[in-house]
Amino acid sequence: MSIYLDFNSSAPIDSRVLEVMVNVYKDVIGNADSRTHDFGDGARKIVERARNQVASILGINKDEVFFTSGATESNNIVLQGLKAYAYKSGRKHIIISSIEHKAVLETAKALKVEGFEVDFVSPDLSGRVSVNSVNELVREDTLLVSIMHVNNETGIIQPVQEIGDLLAERDVFFHVDATQSFGKLVDEIKTIKYDMLSMSAHKIGGPQGIGALVMKKKGYRLPPVKGIMYGGQQENGIRPGTVPVALVAGLGAACGYAEAEYEENKKKCIAVKKCLMQILNESDVSYEINGDQSYCVPSTLNLCLHGVSSEALMLATKHYCGISNGSACNSNSYNPSFVLAAMGVPVGKIESSIRISWGAESDLGEVEDAFNNMLKMAKGLAF
Ligand code: PMP
Repeated sequence: MSIYLDFNSSAPIDSRVLEVMVNVYKDVIGNADSRTHDFGDGARKIVERARNQVASILGINKDEVFFTSGATESNNIVLQGLKAYAYKSGRKHIIISSIEHKAVLETAKALKVEGFEVDFVSPDLSGRVSVNSVNELVREDTLLVSIMHVNNETGIIQPVQEIGDLLAERDVFFHVDATQSFGKLVDEIKTIKYDMLSMSAHKIGGPQGIGALVMKKKGYRLPPVKGIMYGGQQENGIRPGTVPVALVAGLGAACGYAEAEYEENKKKCIAVKKCLMQILNESDVSYEINGDQSYCVPSTLNLCLHGVSSEALMLATKHYCGISNGSACNSNSYNPSFVLAAMGVPVGKIESSIRISWGAESDLGEVEDAFNNMLKMAKGLAF
């Protein structure tokens, strides 16, 4: 019996979402941007319905939603798409956190090579960056601040609400990578003062390969972000290429279910975390949790098992328990987690840390069995 506990890297698709997509694949022919026949109109209707569903869960207007292939692309468009404006305005200073997803980190580093100045803010052991550290770095020529809402490795919620309030007073664009919070921290996201937001459908039971970039209008005007590919005027030129109608329908359906069920989902996730904590506390395993749990989402646990090599534990449990020790984008390399390192966790402890992440559909009994087994293995591996 194998259990999947790596939802932060990709959650299983919701069968109801899949059904919506299959029906679109079967029944809908055509390109949503075709204007010369009913087929195009039919496809466009589905795309616009999904756009409404994304807008609804965020409490925004549908013309602020642009479909992309996912958060990696959305993040790239935000950072690279501001280049022309940066050159024109002479504002080439960017502030990001050192625990951003690589899609932000590496794009920012590429911009640095092109003459941008990039400042990094690091979290402390709590896993959170401080609002003050961002505030201190903001300058006259600051173009953009990009801070993720929830870190994918630790599940720690960043103070994006306060940072948004701060930046709203200044002439600085604020981007939030909300990939791990979208559809989960639904009420919280609605109150953040962001200009741009990134998300991916596959973190909330939607399909892989589709997501959105959200750009909020100020006085009827979108932020001056330009598309980074040439090829068409789809998605207002922000993301050229034929809009994948079935994927978009899947994203829309996943948003619809998330909006209706997020409160219930949260309760189920809390129950799983409670169960994991109880097992841990009742075991004689020596452990500590990375990140201040009062700021952690209820679906993630980043756990350091003292004296246990996380690599050895993952190998030992590989066939029955899908856990990880960091983000999937880095899991083919054995470098210690840069997120935990940025928090100041010592290397020895990083090497003993694993990430467990789950969803509302995770079966409590199965999680309990798998976790008990995992701890048994861990005890056997402890040195
Ligand atoms: N940002 C964050 C915070 C993420 O967790 C991920 C996925 N691990 C991404 C961006 C990238 O998402 P995708 O791979 O769907 O483009």
